Amino acid sequence: MSHRKNIVAGNWKMNKNYEEGRTLAREIVAKLKPSETLAILGAPYIHLKGVSHIISDINNLHLAAQNCHQEEGGAYTGEISTGMLRSVGCDYVILGHSERRDYFEESNQLINAKVKKTLADGMLPIFCCGEKLPVREAGDHEKLVAQQVKEGLFDLSATDFSKVVIAYEPVWAIGTGVTASPDQAQEMHAFIRSLVVDQYGEEVADATSILYGGSVKPGNAKELFSQPDVDGGLVGGASLNAADFLAIMDAM
Ligand code: PEP
Repeated sequence: MSHRKNIVAGNWKMNKNYEEGRTLAREIVAKLKPSETLAILGAPYIHLKGVSHIISDINNLHLAAQNCHQEEGGAYTGEISTGMLRSVGCDYVILGHSERRDYFEESNQLINAKVKKTLADGMLPIFCCGEKLPVREAGDHEKLVAQQVKEGLFDLSATDFSKVVIAYEPVWAIGTGVTASPDQAQEMHAFIRSLVVDQYGEEVADATSILYGGSVKPGNAKELFSQPDVDGGLVGGASLNAADFLAIMDAM
């Protein structure tokens, strides 16, 4: 029996003003059922402290930032350090999201540095990987994802690696309404887990939570989450609505 955590993480991206964000967090707190499944809210930076207060009494609800800077601090105008995130109650940091990789040209090496800084400051990375459509059509999706995972994570010690949550997010499924089929998700998740077995062994691999992301909705979550290597979801659009987010939690 695996002892890995089931997780549903919302990624609010650049949505909701401060009051709207607090309202969404309150709506989720009001209806979230006690559960073994961990819920995570990935809120914009300015919302973090406010949301942290709202969720602080709920055991299975945690807070994530959507990015961080890899340096300790200093002259990096406009950036946010891991120490700042920790100080407002952040537990997780979403790193390597395809929008960061694409629009902000984040490389595997930069993401690796952010992963290490996040761990060094006592927070847990949610490490995103995934291929674009032409890569899948060329049959190179496993090769690409293997490179992202190896370069992003595989120089971590086993102790550090075991704190990482992986999110497989095929880029062609993010925000498009097109979901990977349960079989496609399972195939890639099993492949990622096999990479972890090779690098860190069965025990660590079995304890690694691998989330699926890409147009997860209340209507498709159950089938995706029922796959043996799918341990939950990273949810964008549907996490902006409390009822949808809670329904996805219920599907776990
Ligand atoms: C995401 O941004 O991580 C994501 C999966 O978005 P969506 O659920 O909207 O496809």
